Amino acid sequence: MSMNLVTTLYLIASICFIQALKGLSHPTTSRRGNLFGMLGMALAILTTVGLIYKLGAELATAGIGYVIVGLLVGGTAGSIMAKRVEMTKMPELVAFMHSMIGLAAVFIAIAAVVEPQSLGIVKQLGDSIPAGNRMELFLGAAIGAITFSGSVIAFGKLSGKYKFRLFQGAPVQFSGQHKLNLVLGLATLGLGITFMLTGNLGAFALMLALAFVMGVLIIIPIGGADMPVVVSMLNSYSGWAAAGIGFSLNNSMLIIAGSLVGSSGAILSYIMCKAMNRSFFNVLLGGFGGATETAGPAGAKEARPVKSGSSDDAAFLLTNADTVIIVPGYGLAVARAQHSLMELAEKLTHRGVTVKFAIHPVAGRMPGHMNVLLAEAEVPYEQVFEMEDINSEFGQTDVVLVLGANDVVNPAAKNDPKSPIAGMPILEAYKAKTVIVNKRSMASGYAGLDNELFYLDKTMMVFGDAKKVIEDMVKAVE
Ligand code: NDP
Repeated sequence: MSMNLVTTLYLIASICFIQALKGLSHPTTSRRGNLFGMLGMALAILTTVGLIYKLGAELATAGIGYVIVGLLVGGTAGSIMAKRVEMTKMPELVAFMHSMIGLAAVFIAIAAVVEPQSLGIVKQLGDSIPAGNRMELFLGAAIGAITFSGSVIAFGKLSGKYKFRLFQGAPVQFSGQHKLNLVLGLATLGLGITFMLTGNLGAFALMLALAFVMGVLIIIPIGGADMPVVVSMLNSYSGWAAAGIGFSLNNSMLIIAGSLVGSSGAILSYIMCKAMNRSFFNVLLGGFGGATETAGPAGAKEARPVKSGSSDDAAFLLTNADTVIIVPGYGLAVARAQHSLMELAEKLTHRGVTVKFAIHPVAGRMPGHMNVLLAEAEVPYEQVFEMEDINSEFGQTDVVLVLGANDVVNPAAKNDPKSPIAGMPILEAYKAKTVIVNKRSMASGYAGLDNELFYLDKTMMVFGDAKKVIEDMVKAVE
């Protein structure tokens, strides 16, 4: 395989990745986007295997056998995990994947520093690595280490399964935290520059250790409703780590794919920050959000009265409305009630009710979660509206049906400057003439906050699992 052919194939794979990103930007083209991504990755892997085979034949060093075993083990584990994972557990899986990318970057950097001749960075053992390559290795390894340990913490926080304090949703803050981060950041940079200028291995090792600690310290003060930004930020880091290593290995594919992931992750982080009305810098340093107040199940704390009704009552209100806006949230995904919801929407539309769906950018547990959920149930795209396009309509709407959503409709974000979600734009469901909220109890949402919407005079709570409640509503509408 000639180097020209390798470059051409890598270029085609890169074009596939760009097409993948383009396709994934809209639900109607997302399948095509996924297909392009799979094609690009298959081509990139095959080309790399071919390249290693060629190097192996020339240098008698590259172990093609290890690569094939690695591909088989990794590929099998990946497909089993992807097949088994539930939609609601996707963010943890993504955090886990990011941690693996970070760790891979660290391992490659260590291998390149210890045996640069095996990776073609120098001609023979004993030659010193050029300063430019040392800088790339420092950057790739440092970002990789931060990505790894940060993603492990994010994984714990998102899964909510572990008792370990650092894995709790609530932010972990202590005095002098920002100063410590700054000192660690400067020390990491200083050690990296020392390694770049002198090639000192001790400086490289210490720099790596500090970067691992920094990854933990950067993520632990972030909690609650700000986790979406963390997910997209670590996504971006993992891309830059790969790109950094791509420069050291002189691998154009890694540079292009890494930069695509890095820049698209950065754009997504910016979009998320805008959606949360946060400055990116503040989320990184401030540790906003978090379960500062935990509203337990009904009656567990102060038992405030709420109006509750049955699915039949809800169906009555819905059928007598002219306009209905449905707000889906995480609970709808947990209950897997999207198909029943589609049936309900169809029945209401059939009876002359104008039905629209309102999507908050951080609803659910991953960016675009609700769009995917509704697309799966084949809800027509023209009925689905983003927050900024529909918020002005709530005031003139007869009934808002909130299904398994909580934080994204919490008026505290607007009314309570002390709330951890203060400033976050919400879907203004509280402005509608009547509000119906379905959830199983009075438990809080992801940010751990009580929600005034549930206690309004115009709000009717319908308690129960979303799927069962919606199915009952469908029957009642019939
Ligand atoms: P929330 O997590 O705020 O609330 C979901 C509600 O659904 C809960 O209050 C729960 O109440 C209810 N629920 C759970 N299971 C069911 C069920 N089977 N049937 C009916 N209701 C159910 O969800 P939102 O979508 O409103 O907000 C998303 C939150 O997640 C935000 O804080 C966001 O920042 C955060 N987040 C978002 C990410 C993203 O990328 N989108 C990533 C990580 C976090 P009950 O237990 O009483 O039923």
